Amino acid sequence: MIDNRLISLRKKVRENRKFIIDSILNNHKANICAFCGSEDNLTKEHVLPKWAFGNCEKKYFETKINKLNQRYSQTTIPACFDCNSFILGYFECYIEKEFNDTSLYIDYFTDETIEKIIIWLELIDYKFQILNLRRKFIKIKDRDFIPYLANFPLSIIQADESTSPSKVFSNVRNALKKLSIKSKQRKINSLVIFKTSNESFHFFNKMNEFIFIELPKHNLALFYFYEKEFNSSKESFDHAIEIIKKVY
Ligand SMILES: [Zn+2]
Repeated sequence: MIDNRLISLRKKVRENRKFIIDSILNNHKANICAFCGSEDNLTKEHVLPKWAFGNCEKKYFETKINKLNQRYSQTTIPACFDCNSFILGYFECYIEKEFNDTSLYIDYFTDETIEKIIIWLELIDYKFQILNLRRKFIKIKDRDFIPYLANFPLSIIQADESTSPSKVFSNVRNALKKLSIKSKQRKINSLVIFKTSNESFHFFNKMNEFIFIELPKHNLALFYFYEKEFNSSKESFDHAIEIIKKVY
């Protein structure tokens, strides 16, 4: 069942990829489904599911530059009813169930499940990229509003010196392309799974590079490298720890 839904997602993405990217390039806030390009029956697809937060009180994100608290309930992108409910909603229930079943043993996950967790994390990256293209830059904390910058999407303002606006768009294109690829076999070592006893939700990501997400309800934390491949899980673990130490 779940495999059929994922096949249908890949098919929609493959068939409509070009249209979706062209539409977004033309208008960052285009009102189309981010997964199939449909303009009908649009709903709000959450970038992160509510269950990820567990009982954590901190139900918001702080954006790096605007320094505004963004409630999880407002972090949505447009998706048609079919993609949102039939595919993504169903898939998220599946992932949550896998996490619920494995609170004690982190090496419980089969390779097949790990590939699905990777797809879930790839979806989150793509959704964040779309979200940040749709959001406008407001102001840097403690500084004045700069009218000139107000027309730029947040993802372009947030990019570091090495990331040009064209790189921002090639990242979106890449992230969407990943969703059309079935096998994640080569990427299995790129996912690091930790046991955690932290009681609050933590999250950080660098688009197209890595994501860290800590799920208090499931005593799990995930670190995933979107691009890098590793020969062993030890190698990716060490690399992930290095980055986590820098951020915390
Ligand atoms: Zn759709």
